[in-house]
Amino acid sequence: MTQKFPKLVVVGHGAAGLAAALAAAEQVQSRGLRIDITLLEKSSELEAGGNTRWSPCYMRMSAPDRVAPGFEDDVQQASGGLADRSYFRTLADHAPGMVGWLQRHGIEFIIPVYYLAVGPPRIQPVGGGSAIVEKLLDAVKRAGVNVRYQSAVNKLVIADGLCIGGVGILSSDGVASKLDADAVILATGGFQGDPAMMRAHFGSLADSIKLISPGTRFDSGDGIRIATDQGAKVSGDWNGMHIEPVDPRSRHSAPVVLVYPYGIVVDQDGRRFLDEGAGLVHETWESFARDIHFARPNSIAYAILDSRLFEIEGYQRAIRLDVPPYQSESLEGLAAKVGVPARNLRETVDAFNAAAVGDSARFDATRCDGLKAADTLQPPKSNWARALTKPPFLAFPLVGAIAYTFGGLATNEKAEVLGESGPISGLYAAGETTGHFYGTAPNAVAMLRALVFGQIAGRETADFLLKQ
Ligand SMILES: Cc1cc2nc3c(=O)[nH]c(=O)nc-3n(C[C@H](O)[C@H](O)[C@H](O)COP(=O)(O)OP(=O)(O)OC[C@H]3O[C@@H](n4cnc5c(N)ncnc54)[C@H](O)[C@@H]3O)c2cc1C
Repeated sequence: MTQKFPKLVVVGHGAAGLAAALAAAEQVQSRGLRIDITLLEKSSELEAGGNTRWSPCYMRMSAPDRVAPGFEDDVQQASGGLADRSYFRTLADHAPGMVGWLQRHGIEFIIPVYYLAVGPPRIQPVGGGSAIVEKLLDAVKRAGVNVRYQSAVNKLVIADGLCIGGVGILSSDGVASKLDADAVILATGGFQGDPAMMRAHFGSLADSIKLISPGTRFDSGDGIRIATDQGAKVSGDWNGMHIEPVDPRSRHSAPVVLVYPYGIVVDQDGRRFLDEGAGLVHETWESFARDIHFARPNSIAYAILDSRLFEIEGYQRAIRLDVPPYQSESLEGLAAKVGVPARNLRETVDAFNAAAVGDSARFDATRCDGLKAADTLQPPKSNWARALTKPPFLAFPLVGAIAYTFGGLATNEKAEVLGESGPISGLYAAGETTGHFYGTAPNAVAMLRALVFGQIAGRETADFLLKQ
């Protein structure tokens, strides 16, 4: 007779799911015990990895063994004071150990040069998210985890006694099946890939937001839906998303244009509509890209700069494009190329230049330089207000592109999914499937929390199953 071992199903092959499956396998192996672990992934092996595969994976740490000072306060500030302190304290406490674990699995870290402006310290895995997927997948397979692709989980099966009993699966060729499980870890990402959920939470224009990477579309809210169907509580800001300005002409993943603070931004009518220099890019990109998509005609805007952009040291770091900007020796020529009314663009630039009266020698792209335009300028420009006078003039078209949503499942420090009366026995979740973000995304924290809480979910689930 074959021996029966407790069964764990992990759903999703991004950072959170892979970390969870590996941590669970290691936890039971370290005790000389065994559980059967299956990792189910909706996409093909070639595409698996959701957002993680396409992410540069900046992590908000000073060094691999240290989180950046002020981590918890910054998270609180980004969330407008709504973030769960103990959840983020757990994240900060576990981050160095988690990074050491990745290093032991062959992932190297560097301190990256990040865009242009000096921001919070960050580390980065060499090879970004695709290296994380590749190395963790190798380790997961070596640890004996059974990985199944083209297997979309579409429901939780509840056994007698209201315990987790398994999951329902729909294969890519439409065959429905069931897999038994004594515990389930949900790591299916956010809901940005589901047009209906996007419309329900962000309004009718939300389903046309560009997805920032090829992997972003696989995250269609499945984990959130199947857990809430069983009474799971939710958390996070259901009106929150991480969205960045990208050039729609590019065929690259995440073709961000982050030089907009150093010029002006106009709408299709050639008019400014916001303070381009209100803060560092990671402080303004979400509200800016969101405004473009939801409030500007045709959901498009144009960053207008002059050739002094090329004099900014390292400016290329802030533009991830495979296409050059539109260029012209005159503003009128530029307007014709991008299709905005030439007279309006000329008026807008003249008004801006007339207000850009500060000493341009103070211009410093690496920090908020305080070079503000005269108060008469509306909307104001609070930093980097340098007149646009040196041809050729440049234009980058900009649209908003979404990376992930904030609303998700309520979980605790053990990555247990919470129901109305406490943790739902045997159900865990990590990564973007969980809520916890409010207001604006704390910079370079999403990947850290996917990995830390993935690891915690794996260990906790192993302990839970071994106690059964
Ligand atoms: C371009 C880009 C840049 C980013 N840059 C950074 C950065 O620098 N720093 C940072 O901290 N964060 C960054 N992020 C965010 C970060 O990458 C994500 O928060 C993180 O990768 C999320 O990991 P996850 O495991 O929760 O989800 P994902 O990596 O998205 O994985 C979810 C997986 O679940 C699978 N899945 C979905 N539904 C089902 C189902 N029903 N059944 C089975 N499988 C399913 C998906 O196919 C996918 O493989 C970036 C994201 C993008 C896209």
